[in-house]
Amino acid sequence: MTTLIKNGTIITAADTYRADILVKNGRVFEIGREISKIANEIIDATGKWVLPGAVDAHTHLGALCDGMAPADDFASATAAAAVGGTTTVIDYAEQAPGGTLAAALEEWKGKGAGSSVVDYAFHLAICEVNPGVLGEIPAMVDAGVTSFHVRLDGCGERYINDGDLLEFFECVRGAGAIACLHAENGEIVRSCLRRLRAEGKTAVRYLPLARPPEVEAQATARAISIAEMARAPIYLSGVSCAHAIERVKAARDRGQAVYAETSPHFLLLASDRYEDPDGEKYICIPPLRPSWHADVLWKAIASGDVHAVASNHRAFDHAGQKELGRDDFTRAPHGFAGIQERVSLMHSAGVGAGKISPNRLVELVSAFPARIFGLFPRKGTLSVGSDADMILFDPEAEVTLTQAKSVSRSDYTPYEGMSVRGAPWMVLQRGKVIARKHKIMTGAGAGEFLPSVRSSLP
Ligand SMILES: [Zn+2]
Repeated sequence: MTTLIKNGTIITAADTYRADILVKNGRVFEIGREISKIANEIIDATGKWVLPGAVDAHTHLGALCDGMAPADDFASATAAAAVGGTTTVIDYAEQAPGGTLAAALEEWKGKGAGSSVVDYAFHLAICEVNPGVLGEIPAMVDAGVTSFHVRLDGCGERYINDGDLLEFFECVRGAGAIACLHAENGEIVRSCLRRLRAEGKTAVRYLPLARPPEVEAQATARAISIAEMARAPIYLSGVSCAHAIERVKAARDRGQAVYAETSPHFLLLASDRYEDPDGEKYICIPPLRPSWHADVLWKAIASGDVHAVASNHRAFDHAGQKELGRDDFTRAPHGFAGIQERVSLMHSAGVGAGKISPNRLVELVSAFPARIFGLFPRKGTLSVGSDADMILFDPEAEVTLTQAKSVSRSDYTPYEGMSVRGAPWMVLQRGKVIARKHKIMTGAGAGEFLPSVRSSLP
């Protein structure tokens, strides 16, 4: 099976050039000017950009939140991903309390198999650091998981103290893997929550007071110090505020291997949404910030102190789920949909607004996550031998984001009514068209499990 994509402008993280791409057996076989070979299918990409399929490195497609089932499963969320140009997801496989990492990996592979529309890899989300769990890490690396995540806002038995964190970092580094963190100080969050509850301030507009930027900055600084001691590279998932960026930048200026990921909602939505009558739709962790933080995040994206933009897709319904948080924000599950909108939003607000180049867009949504999580150059770029995952992107398309257009099963989108410029026109996975003009063209189970290899970054 061969496919020839003609007359497009290829954009990778490194280059922009006009060329044709010949795909054979799902991989890029040849790139060149005016390839005139015979192919089973010829796609004319005149006027389109040809981008590597996007890699979403932060999704929760198979997880409950406080016992509540998300609106999406792997099939529906990855169909939304495909329509939006994302051809690979890296989902968080969650260790059950008392369970093994091996069991978590098997459980999540089971959720993806026969269900995922796009290719999928996993991070392992560790809920308790103990010698048994740490001892499993090398075997998990051999099994194709090279990133291990801990939350610093856990509570009770799940609270990770400094000594545990040091051992975790040393163990992950020793296995040649990367440590990922959710950096908010859980002790201070609980203290803030107790005070807010005592004062009767549980309405959704008080959510930012439970998790202020300082809580994120403190945990970020703590993780950076301990990682420096362990000489371990770290990846901070869900960086939301200027205070945390300041700590990341200082560490990077010293030469420490600290990598930061943010999400479109921290760049495009602000905490004034919590004042809206339906403010509970925007409950997420960390919470949305006042809009000036987004300016700092954009500058850090441009300067190279933020490395990746992921969706943190965790879709719930407003009816029956998010609405529970209206008068008490702790009762609502946190998170919302975003897997479909990520690439278009970053193109529109980033490239369209002159904040980043098209190459930097590819770096943020595709190349960097593929590199750090051990999927490059199979994913994240278009070179001979890479998987033929592509977005044929129309940079001029005008789209208004609405729930009606979203493939996620969630009954709302946090981006309702937002106009974006630039959208995927056609999406290919391993040479096969999987989405066309916002319509899915393939079925559940088309995706494959991707074993990650050790990161090529320090
Ligand atoms: Zn998350």
